[in-house]
Amino acid sequence: MNIKNCKKCGKIYSYDGFDNCYACRNEENDMYQKVREYIYDNSNADINKVSQATEVPKKKILEFLRQGKLEIKEGSNLILDCERCEKPISSGRFCDKCINEMDMELKGVLREDKLKKEEEQRYRNANKLNVKNRR
Ligand SMILES: [Zn+2]
Ligand SMILES: [Zn+2]
Repeated sequence: MNIKNCKKCGKIYSYDGFDNCYACRNEENDMYQKVREYIYDNSNADINKVSQATEVPKKKILEFLRQGKLEIKEGSNLILDCERCEKPISSGRFCDKCINEMDMELKGVLREDKLKKEEEQRYRNANKLNVKNRR
C-alpha cells in the first residue's frame, strides 16, 4: 500500500492518486458545492459576500475560480483578473486573447527552451555591461 502525507492536513493516508487525504477532499468538495449553489442563486454577489454567506475562505473561492470549476454568469460581480493583462475574466487564469497569444508564443517551445533563452539573454546583457565598463 502506498502511504503519503496529506498536503493539506499532514495526516497519513493511503495514496489513491490525489495529493490530499479523503477527509480533506471531502471538505473541499463540500465547500465547492456550497459556493456553487450560492453563486447559482445569487449571481450578483461579489466574492466577499459569497465568502461570508458560505463561510468558505475567499482564497478557496478564488482557487475554484482559477481552476475553472466555477463558471460565472455574465454581469456578475464575481470577477477575476487575467493574470497577464488584468482584463476581467469569469474563470481560469487568463482571458481568451491572452490564451491565444500565449498559445502562439509557446507553440512547440518547451519551458526548458524558454529558460535557456532567458539565460542567454542575461549572459548577453552582462557582456554588454562589461563592454561599457571597459571603455
Ligand atoms: Zn488531509
Ligand atoms: Zn489577458
